[in-house]
Amino acid sequence: MIWLLFLLSIDPRYHTFNEVAYELDSMATHYSSITMLDTLGYTDIDSLPIFALKISDSVTMDEDEPEILYIGCHHAEELIGIEICMYMIDDLISNYNIDSTKTHWINNREIWFVPLMNPDGHNVVMTHMDTIWRKNKRDNDNNGFFDLTHDGVDLNRNYDFYWSNGGSTDFSSEFYRGPYSFSESEARAIRDLTLAHSFAFCITYHSARYGLTEVVYYPWRWSGGYSPDYPFIRVIADTISKRIIKDSGTGHYTALVGQGLDGRARNWLYGICGIFTYCLEVGTTTIPPGSIVDDICQRNLPGAYYLLERVEESGITGCIYDSLSGEPVSAEVVINGYYDSSLPPRKSDVTYGRFLRILKPGVYDIEVRNCGYASMYYDDIVVSDGQMTELNVLLNRISGESTIPRPQKKIKIIPNPSSNFVIIQLDQPSDYSSLKIYDTLGRLVTNMENPSGEMTWHCVDDNNREVSEGIYWFVATTTDERTTKKVVLVRR
Ligand SMILES: [Zn+2]
Repeated sequence: MIWLLFLLSIDPRYHTFNEVAYELDSMATHYSSITMLDTLGYTDIDSLPIFALKISDSVTMDEDEPEILYIGCHHAEELIGIEICMYMIDDLISNYNIDSTKTHWINNREIWFVPLMNPDGHNVVMTHMDTIWRKNKRDNDNNGFFDLTHDGVDLNRNYDFYWSNGGSTDFSSEFYRGPYSFSESEARAIRDLTLAHSFAFCITYHSARYGLTEVVYYPWRWSGGYSPDYPFIRVIADTISKRIIKDSGTGHYTALVGQGLDGRARNWLYGICGIFTYCLEVGTTTIPPGSIVDDICQRNLPGAYYLLERVEESGITGCIYDSLSGEPVSAEVVINGYYDSSLPPRKSDVTYGRFLRILKPGVYDIEVRNCGYASMYYDDIVVSDGQMTELNVLLNRISGESTIPRPQKKIKIIPNPSSNFVIIQLDQPSDYSSLKIYDTLGRLVTNMENPSGEMTWHCVDDNNREVSEGIYWFVATTTDERTTKKVVLVRR
C-alpha cells in the first residue's frame, strides 16, 4: 500500500512543465548576455513548446566554438534528466564570472540543453494520470482521445537509424516505435537541432525502469562490429562513469557499450551526425525520492562537465578552406583506421570549415577530401595528451578526373635507425616555424625553435636527459602545413 502511494504521488521537488517554462524564461531574462531560450518545435497533441536553452558568450551568434548538448526526458516518467539539466544550467550561469573554469567554458563553448524533450508524456506523469507513462501522446488509433492502453510512441525508438530493427510495431507496447521513423515532432526537433549544428558530444539522460541502473551506455557493438570511433568513445565513457558516485555513496557508475543498432537517439546522433553520445541511466529507481534529487544532480555534474573539459583535450581540429577563394569548405575528414564507409561522411562545418575529431594520444594518418578538390593527405599527425593538434587545410580545386599525387616528405633523417645523434635536414628551411619531437604516446620531448636547414639532435630532452629507446616523431611546422617523420632510436 505504501509502495502504491509512492507511485501515485510525484514529489513537488520535480518540475512541472510550467515550472520548467517559467524558470528557463526567467534565467534567460536574468542572464540575457549568456543565455538564449529557443523553441525547437511543438508537440503534435498538446501543442506544447520543446524548449532549448543555449549558454555561451555572444550567445545569439553561432561562433566557431565546440558545441555540447544535454537532453532530458525522452521517456516521460524518467524525470531526473530534467532535474539534472535544470541544475546544471543554474550551476553554470550563476557561476559566470565567479568560477574561472565555468566562465572559461561559457566563453569558449556553446552549451545546449533540451531539458524536457517529451512535454506531452511528462504531463501524463505529473498530473498523476499514469505515473509510469513512458511514451508521448500520439493518437495511434485516430479516435480523437488519448488512451493509456494503446496510444503514444516511444520517442527513443523513433530515430531514423536502423529504425526498423528496434522497438515494437504494437500500439500498446511501451516500446512502440511509431508508424515511420521521425514520425514524432519531438524526435524531429532533436534531429533539426543537431543537423543544424556541429555538436561534439551529447548526453541523453534517462533513469532506470528496465535493465541496469547507474550505467553510461555508448555506441555501439553490433553484428557488424564496433562503431568506428569506439576506442575514443569508450575511454570517455569510462571517465564519465568513474566521475559519478552511485546513490549508495560508494563506487561509481559503470560504462557499457550499447548492444545492437535501432532507432535510439544515441545511435542516430552518433551514426548520422558523428556526435559522441552517451546515454545515462541515472539513479537506482525510475523516480527517486524528492529528498535525494539535489544530491543526485550534484553527483552527476562531474560526469557531465567532463565533456566540457574533454572537448579541448586530445584530438585534431582545424579549418578547411578553398586555396583560391579562401572560403571555408565543408569537406570530409577521414581518420585512417577509424572510418566506416557505410556511415555519412564526417565533414567540417559549412560556416567556418571547422572540423573537430576527438582522438586518443597517438599518431594518425588523415585524408581530407571533397568533390572537385584534390585530396590532401597528412601522414603521422601526432596527437598529444591534454591539447588539440591544429591542422588547417587548404584544398586545391581540380578539373575533371585528374588527381594530384601525394606530397613528398620534406624532412630527411640520417641515420635511421639512430643511436646517439640524429641529423635532421629540412628542405626550404626558412619556411619552418618550429620542429618538435614527440614520443610514441604523443608527449613532447623537445621543441627546437627556429629550425634551420641542418640540425643535430643528441637524443636528449629539454632538460638534457637522455631519452629512452623507441620510436620518435619529428614534426616540422610551417604557417599552413606540417610535415612529420618517424625515427627509431636504438641505444648501443
Ligand atoms: Zn529511458
